[in-house]
Amino acid sequence: MSKILIVEDNIFFAKVMEKSIVDRFAYVVDVAGTAEEAREKLAHNKYELIVVDLILPDSEGEFIEELCSGENKIIVTTDFEDEFTRKKITSLDIVDYIIKSDSPDFSYLLNVIHRINTNESITVLIVEDSLTVRNHISQLLHIQCLNVITATDGLEALDMIKEHPNEIDLVITDYNMPNMDGLELLRELRRTYSINQLPIITLSALGTESIIARFLKAGANDYIMKPFSKEEFFCRINLSLNNLEMLKSAQKAASTDHLTGLHNRYYMQSRLVRLAKDKNKINALAIVDIDHFKNINDTFGHHTGDLALKFFAIHLLSHFDMENIIRMGGEEFLVILPGMSNKKAVLSLEGLREEMQNAKFTDENGSDVKFTISAGVAQAKSGKCDSAIKEADEYLYKAKKNGRNRIEFEGSTK
Ligand code: GH3
Ligand code: MG
Ligand code: MG
Ligand code: MG
Repeated sequence: MSKILIVEDNIFFAKVMEKSIVDRFAYVVDVAGTAEEAREKLAHNKYELIVVDLILPDSEGEFIEELCSGENKIIVTTDFEDEFTRKKITSLDIVDYIIKSDSPDFSYLLNVIHRINTNESITVLIVEDSLTVRNHISQLLHIQCLNVITATDGLEALDMIKEHPNEIDLVITDYNMPNMDGLELLRELRRTYSINQLPIITLSALGTESIIARFLKAGANDYIMKPFSKEEFFCRINLSLNNLEMLKSAQKAASTDHLTGLHNRYYMQSRLVRLAKDKNKINALAIVDIDHFKNINDTFGHHTGDLALKFFAIHLLSHFDMENIIRMGGEEFLVILPGMSNKKAVLSLEGLREEMQNAKFTDENGSDVKFTISAGVAQAKSGKCDSAIKEADEYLYKAKKNGRNRIEFEGSTK
């Protein structure tokens, strides 16, 4: 497990900080009360991050400079709020600094640690024609553990995003650039990506009120005026990344069925819209339903009923891709079989039906539980999924009527 070193002479403060970190993250935390003690620990351990107090009994800040000369990721904590100390601290190569009284519950520190953890999987595209500014921003983003790629103008950026549509999480763009400027790039990107899909932060020295407003109205998530302080830059980047993350997790929660972890009905509409975009493609759809599910609840209890649903979800996932399985409600599931003919889809579902007929699980009371499934399969032509779902439902009804543990489709029975 990765390690964090806290260097802090206030024992109470160090203890609370350690507990807050350990409670939230999978880190081992070591604590040192002096620079000397910290040197000793650093000689024998590898730390992913060092949270260090500015003033220690044996250091007035020199220890931090010493730490900065190595490869360490450093967060400085301090009691001082004056401008002189701020300037001194921010001139160092550190991830961030925290004024203790501003965040007594450590929420800011925990957020910085969280960002360091997650930033490694985030890629930022910098669009900037000046090599000096490009390098400066790249360096700042690297300190925050972000991955960086660069483009020298709007056109180049657009090509890069088209080539790697899912690999860029945040765009930082300058305004004045040759070929395509930042405003044109922003407008072009917003045709495809909403403000909630791809955050775009614009930078410019020409920070007139009207240009700032134009950028924001055209869909920029934020605007940073040049020259900017390192601190402001970090705060704004982190804010945008936090917002994006919150949004993604809210979207995920809204489209997930909490019992099985599969997608829910809310997700269905967006999935079907995506499917319908390719009008030339023929897709098969199946509605799958557990037979006599009510009996499982009645015989073994509701909890075992829940386990049966989870058990079935695992079987579904072993046959079909997650993005193609939707829990419609209760014990009824929609399975999308993209590009599949009716015949192939039925064969594929027959495999699942047979597997379920032979499968069983043991519940918490030691009872063996078995169940079968029925399904109706229909073909969605020219992207028309709604009518195919209705048709599949009618075939499912037929399967139930004809004895269950079977699959019905066009031409299956008279
Ligand atoms: P059929 O073979 O005709 O499909 O019969 P069935 O018993 O499977 O279907 P019915 O619609 O009569 O009953 C479904 C039951 O599923 C009723 C409902 O209480 C139960 N149910 C719905 N959602 C859940 C759930 O999340 N957990 C559990 N344990 N039961 C659920
Ligand atoms: Mg101190
Ligand atoms: Mg049922
Ligand atoms: Mg049902």
